Amino acid sequence: MKSKFLKSKWIFYLVFILVVGLLVVLFYSPEKGWKVRSIKDGDTIILENGEEVRYIGIDTPEESQPYFEEAKEFNGKMVEGKRIFLEYDQETKDKYSRTLAYVWVDSLLVNAELVKNGLASVYTHSPNLKHRDCFCSLQTEARKAKIGIWSIPVSGVEKYYIGNKNSTRFHRPSCEYAAQMADRNKIIFKTKEEVLDSCYSPCRTCKP
Ligand SMILES: [Zn+2]
Repeated sequence: MKSKFLKSKWIFYLVFILVVGLLVVLFYSPEKGWKVRSIKDGDTIILENGEEVRYIGIDTPEESQPYFEEAKEFNGKMVEGKRIFLEYDQETKDKYSRTLAYVWVDSLLVNAELVKNGLASVYTHSPNLKHRDCFCSLQTEARKAKIGIWSIPVSGVEKYYIGNKNSTRFHRPSCEYAAQMADRNKIIFKTKEEVLDSCYSPCRTCKP
């Protein structure tokens, strides 16, 4: 009799914990959005809980490059003081343990807005390709309009560029990574325009 009573007590506690757990998930989950503590640069922010978030699929200028400040400022204007929502792709963390996300403010995708305004270029990593097509067409528009980073004159032109069909990166002919590339992955582009029309992203080592 006593053990039966104990058993029902346990079941009661279990149900209680489950219900409380469910309520917590429903009312305190990221569905309510996040607040931003600080802006690191054009494509990285720190959330109120200290979590670092790197925007997926794009790349904004580094501190030493033109349009760094503009990209950072634009990012800040979009997310500071707002409730932001994170959308994930296949991988949720990068090798630096940063959270990888698409950042939404109301109906605007911040990653896309940066590309649209010429303040970020397309930089996707497989398998995180959810919005790649959208980013590519926005980049094409920004290039046509010659805004932001696309207004900078092209320097150090090569006779041709070597693309990697697998990673959608492109290299200078002299790059060590181009030399290591399997022939089946290689694609030759005659001009940088041609490379960008195909939405390939520059190698971070040879910086074509
Ligand atoms: Zn390279």
